[in-house]
Amino acid sequence: MIKVIGKRVTLTATGIAVAIFGAGLFGWSDKDDGVSSLGPKKAFAQSAGRDVLPTGRTASPVTDGVYPASYFPNTEELGPAEMRIVALGTGMPNQTKAAVSISFLVELGNGDKFLFDVGMGSMGNLFSLRPDFSKIDKVFISHLHVDHVGDFMGLHIGSWLSGRYTPLRIWGPTGAKPELGIKAFVDNSKLAYAWDLEGRTGALPDDGGKIEVTEFDYMQENEVVYQENGVTIRSWPAIHLLDGSVSYSLEWNGLKYVFGGDTYPNSWYVKYAAGADIASHEAFLPPKALAPYFGWTLGQATYVSTRVHTEPAAFGKVMSAVKPRHAVGYHSVLSPENYQAILEGIRTTYDGDLTLTRDLTVINVTKDEIVVREASVDEYALPPSVTKAYNDAPRSKEKKPSEKILAGKWKGYTPPKMPDEKK
Ligand SMILES: [Zn+2]
Ligand SMILES: [Zn+2]
Repeated sequence: MIKVIGKRVTLTATGIAVAIFGAGLFGWSDKDDGVSSLGPKKAFAQSAGRDVLPTGRTASPVTDGVYPASYFPNTEELGPAEMRIVALGTGMPNQTKAAVSISFLVELGNGDKFLFDVGMGSMGNLFSLRPDFSKIDKVFISHLHVDHVGDFMGLHIGSWLSGRYTPLRIWGPTGAKPELGIKAFVDNSKLAYAWDLEGRTGALPDDGGKIEVTEFDYMQENEVVYQENGVTIRSWPAIHLLDGSVSYSLEWNGLKYVFGGDTYPNSWYVKYAAGADIASHEAFLPPKALAPYFGWTLGQATYVSTRVHTEPAAFGKVMSAVKPRHAVGYHSVLSPENYQAILEGIRTTYDGDLTLTRDLTVINVTKDEIVVREASVDEYALPPSVTKAYNDAPRSKEKKPSEKILAGKWKGYTPPKMPDEKK
């Protein structure tokens, strides 16, 4: 049973759905009174296994499968056998306000959370959900295009500022050469952001500044890359420009989610995505819509849409072969005309259940039903609350500028005395 609520438009009777982090948030210890300028954030109680919620929020279970029309983050308890997928970014490398680059958050009823890709701009949508960042520590990367990894350092620093006190764990494929793999990407990102990381190290929890990389063979076929706590994640190759692009499946509690990454229609996907509850795959603009969108010739657009990516009719063919409970398309800015062009293309080859995701589309999955809604978030959302464990996590020592720089402080301003927070 597929339910589509809210802004979605049901097109057929079969239930076809159409579907800040703080920059430079610190100073340094003020030598004069010896009080840190970056004391621990106020912490909130966290019950065992549950997410810490932003202050003022309570979560209730969804009863009898009756979901509110919109998804208001931190107001719904995920059922013990339920999966929730939130599209954090569904667009193109040239982002718009409505559609930033690719990222998906998968939350499970056992408390685990996983990110698949972290494209540019997607962290704004992640932060708007105000999640418990102590649990957002696992990222799986399909390939190293900027629209799939551009917010990696934003995630690392932003989550470290906002509740994550353990290392960020990242998985991704090798490339044809060592410098084209995920490990080189992380090493080089750390070098590029050395100044930022150096300055924050010591002020924030020491372990939260660490990144643990797992690089696996991009050619491996449906082999396990992650297996913990009842969750199994596998990878297989994708066909996309260079070697070193992959797709993933996540299996837990009898549910299977597939994240396609970017790919030309390929036999691995058809084989290993089979039986998925949610099979997501790129659904690119067809050539005739892509050409005017980018101002390209029809030849250029045909090459990109049908040789590098997957055009809608090809997406439909793939899904007709995979036969998931619910197909999910992404990787387009869904303006009305683009939406129409993609949907029409898919419907020439696929008549199963389908959602074309927009940013902040939310999909709840249980064995009995799949519910598709849109999240309703505050554009000015505060950062989330942090746990006591985050506040108690060891920090070494805050950094500060050299004496020769501090000597330039203007005598015309005296900062207010630091409050005594020990009372
Ligand atoms: Zn790509
Ligand atoms: Zn892409």
